[in-house]
Amino acid sequence: MLIASGLELEAKSSITGDQSADVIFIGDHIITVDSASVDVTAVAVAGQEIIATGSAEEILKLKKSSTRVIELGENALVPGFIDAHGHMTAVAKLTEVIDLAPPPVGYVESINDIVALVESTIEQQQLAPGTWVLGFGYDDSLLKERRHPNRNDLDQASLDHPIMLTHASGHLATVNSAALKESNIDKYTKNPPGGVIRRISDTGEPNGVMEETAMGLFPRNMLTPIEDSKFENLVRQAIQRYVSYGITTIQDGGANMPDIEKLRVVAKNKPYIADVVVFPWSNYFDDNQLLSIEAESSYTDGLRLGGVKFGLDGSPQGRTAFLSEPYNEGPPGTASDYRAYPIFPAEQFNPKMAQLLERGTPTLVHANGDGAIDMLIDGVAAALKNKEISDHRTVIIHAQLMRRDQLKQTKKLGLIPSYYSAHPFFWGDWHRRSFGEERAAFISPAAETARMQIPFTIHNDAPIVPPDMMRLMWVAVNRKTRSDFVLGPDQRLTPMQALHAITLGAAYQYFEEDKKGSIT
Ligand SMILES: [Zn+2]
Ligand SMILES: [Zn+2]
Repeated sequence: MLIASGLELEAKSSITGDQSADVIFIGDHIITVDSASVDVTAVAVAGQEIIATGSAEEILKLKKSSTRVIELGENALVPGFIDAHGHMTAVAKLTEVIDLAPPPVGYVESINDIVALVESTIEQQQLAPGTWVLGFGYDDSLLKERRHPNRNDLDQASLDHPIMLTHASGHLATVNSAALKESNIDKYTKNPPGGVIRRISDTGEPNGVMEETAMGLFPRNMLTPIEDSKFENLVRQAIQRYVSYGITTIQDGGANMPDIEKLRVVAKNKPYIADVVVFPWSNYFDDNQLLSIEAESSYTDGLRLGGVKFGLDGSPQGRTAFLSEPYNEGPPGTASDYRAYPIFPAEQFNPKMAQLLERGTPTLVHANGDGAIDMLIDGVAAALKNKEISDHRTVIIHAQLMRRDQLKQTKKLGLIPSYYSAHPFFWGDWHRRSFGEERAAFISPAAETARMQIPFTIHNDAPIVPPDMMRLMWVAVNRKTRSDFVLGPDQRLTPMQALHAITLGAAYQYFEEDKKGSIT
């Protein structure tokens, strides 16, 4: 498959006499993704824009001596892919920490593997005692032991280096005794609001596992700013990686302000080869900080600030997604009525959401559990009461445990679900245990959303899942779990629906559908 990469897909189909093309594509499998133009067999490109589409005979009139003509043969041509949600600077930074991903992404299968990897990293890099050792991507649902590594496990790797390993969801982490000591966290430390310090039941001492905001109690984590000297290289490599998957618009959702400033400096040095849309993490902004955020509608050197991002709950694979009804199987030691919890209170979220809608600032809101989706729906409904604000395109990021009744509200309020459709493969088997068959089968109900004619997108949430868009489409179309179980066959998308969700659908989410997402 070829991808019309880097093209500003602008609608300009009428051919005028003085136009000429730099590149002409000719083929029988040109998928425009625009239902209004279906019988396209040739496409002309000049500079960064598609200038004409039509039949080969017609389009070849735009050929000059220097025009490159590409015969597609059996290859398909599709619009450049648009990343509806992910974290580009995190992808860049994580190349600097230990990769603890299980197959098929990485190699880690047991807690022993983790301890050995940490130990060998300390040795190979000759890290001095006291140096933080960071890792990312272990997955308790896939480890042989089916549990998180705890402080005792990690103490085997080192008693002298503080170690912090972040879970594959990004919503939990596990630390060793040196990290707890360095951060003054012990049995007397209270859980922070929106987080849990997991404990050894008889002593109350932390067992090493930190949920959600409890990860913020440590001076370092996988996302702490990296040295300026490394930043540019890592970011350009990360963008190159996205582009290798056919992605031409990349999201950096929930970035911190110092990194956003650095991204601007780097772009000014040399424009990015793909478009990067950045949304600052806004849970901790006060009203003045929030007011100072100005969303930009056009790119400067390949970068624009697209709006803001909030988070309301955790992750289903970490069993911290906030539900309205109890989990079928919660984390160890939790009561049978465990539903997890919001990480941001409605009293703080609602006025901020109202302010953003009023100002027309595009907003992404992380909400996985139906409890968190209720919070978002309630917040937006309250803000829109007695007001006429249309076409705000507020995005429900992940929206995984969306209920049927919530889909109706979603449509009514003009919200856009961006489903984390990679999940059925990566964590589908685990979700059946966590949520029971009925809720698991309706996870990320993309096909129902399409039937209700609600605009939606799908995403990988890189670096949680690598930004491989073909695999994302494969999961969305097949919904096969690791054990080959089809999770919610009714919610499988057609290949065209999946392609739409990562091209024209995603362009719509970004208010860029006039320029991108289709070959027109
Ligand atoms: Zn998220
Ligand atoms: Zn995310």
